[in-house]
Parts: sequence; C-alpha cells; structure tokens
Amino acid sequence: MMKVLHDTIHQLTIPTPFAVGDVHVYLLKGDVLSLVDAGVRTKEAWEALVLQLKQLGYSPNDIEQLILTHHHPDHIGLVGEFPRAHSIVGHSFNEPWLTKDESFFNRYEQFFKDYFAFFGVPDVYLKYLEQMKSELGHFGEGSLTAVIDEGDVLPGHDQWRVIGTKGHAQSHLSFFRESDGSFIGGDHLLAHITPNPVLEPPYNEGQERPKPLLQYRSNLNKCLQLGIQKVYPGHNEVFSNLDELIPAQLKLQEKRANKVFEMLQVKEQKPFAICQQLFPKKFAKQLDLTMSETIGQLDFLENEGKILATVKDGILFYQIK
Ligand SMILES: [Zn+2]
Repeated sequence: MMKVLHDTIHQLTIPTPFAVGDVHVYLLKGDVLSLVDAGVRTKEAWEALVLQLKQLGYSPNDIEQLILTHHHPDHIGLVGEFPRAHSIVGHSFNEPWLTKDESFFNRYEQFFKDYFAFFGVPDVYLKYLEQMKSELGHFGEGSLTAVIDEGDVLPGHDQWRVIGTKGHAQSHLSFFRESDGSFIGGDHLLAHITPNPVLEPPYNEGQERPKPLLQYRSNLNKCLQLGIQKVYPGHNEVFSNLDELIPAQLKLQEKRANKVFEMLQVKEQKPFAICQQLFPKKFAKQLDLTMSETIGQLDFLENEGKILATVKDGILFYQIK
C-alpha cells in the first residue's frame, strides 16, 4: 500500500505588542519550505522567530515562500525579512497594505471619514483616524508574487486547498488539507474568542461596502461542512471541536444582535448611539473595532428583515420593522 506523505507542520509562537497577545505562524515543509504568516514587525518578534526556527534546524535564509492568511500587522509584519524567499502568496487585497499604497490609504481614510459621519459619530472622535495611520509602521513591506483565492492549491503544497474566509478581513484566506482535515485558519476560526468582523472600504472603487459579519457567518457555515478535524489558528491553542464551537459562536453573535434589537424597540437610533450603549467603556478608545461590531449586528438584523434603515440629514437611523 502506498503511504500518503504529508507536509510537516510546525507551530511557532511570536509575541505582539497588541491586546490579542501572541500570534502563531506555521512552518510548512512540502516541495518548498514555507512560512504561513509573518508575525509583527518588532525586534522581539524577530528574535522569537529566529530562535524557534533554529530549534527546528532552520534559519530565516531557508524560508523559500511566505503565505499570508490576511493583511493585519500581526500577520504580515516580518514579510520583508526573508532575503531568500522568492515568493509571497496571498489574496490580492494584501497588496495595497504590503506596498503601502498611498492612494489606497487616502481612499481608506476618506471612507471612514464619510461613513463615521453617516453613522452619526461626532467629529471629536475622528482623531482615531490619525492613530490608525501611525500604526502602519507595524506592517511589513513587500509585494505579492502570486495571487491565490478560493479553490486554488497552495503553491509547493499540493495537498492544501485555499478556502475563502472573508469577514475578519477582506483579504482573509484559510488553508485546508482534506486528507487529514487539517485547517490553517488565521483569525477566522479561533477558540475562546470570536474574531472582530472588521469594517473595510470596498477594494474596487464604486462597489458597495462589504458586510463583514454576514461574510463571517456564511464562512463559518461553510467551514462546518468541510470536515475539519484540527484547526491551526493564528492565536490561542490548536483545537478540534468545530461541531460545538461554530454553532456556539453563531449563537453568541445572535444574542448580541438581539441586544441591539431590544435597544431599537425602545426607539429608533443612529449606529453611533448603539455603539456607545454596547461598549460604554471601550468605544472612545477603540472606535474602529466597536463601530465595526455595531455595524455588523445592524447589518445582520437588517438582513434578517427585522430592522429598517432610514437616512435623515445625511445620518443613518435604524428602527424596528
Ligand atoms: Zn487579524
């Protein structure tokens, strides 16, 4: 009988300066030696990575390919630090982040200015947008050499199939090996935490804005059908109880949406007012994430046909149907 040889997969754990804590990257040995994700761009992260590669008998110079799950700074930070890596592969939406595309960032900033005004956010909170720009230093620099998307096979690792998992990020991909049900899930599937469905502008101008929570839910359901046995996540421990975890995460989100529905039963409200009630302590400091979460729940309720949007003097209001 022929033995099926699998790529070997090693988890490396890298510190980040962010609230989320450590991030995992994965060393994948197949026809090429790949690193899935590249930690954050700090000295501590680099030292942790080099040390753990060394413990496995490798050095950064041995890495031939970088594979990205999504564009967030804790996943692409060190992407430019591997001189012998001849390829960087990921979703095409990583590219403006990797190349620090000025016109993209301007459009990004304008999108949030416009939408925050539309959501009823007072101008005094817009200083957060400046802070967003200052965080760009944590992003790695580079450029994709190959674009991958849903249904593709990972270059150099032909047992791994690319699964589209937008929601947490518009660039988000996961990687699935059907033969043993292994799944490298980035931030799409995590134990103990539900990832933030982050609001982003459409990547192609003129398109409607993505609805990240709806994407996230539909991709959770998709993952439930894949036959995943073991998840190698971007944060926290490796896990396998998807049949429990995914329905529990969907239910938790529905509970949050119901809380928003109850607020709207009292009176019609603008998104920012709902955000303040949902996150009274957090909203001012983490306006992007708390507004993303709020808009997510509103998108969900609207999609369920439970609430109705109206616009008054350029500001969005929701009411129950
Ligand atoms: Zn992320």
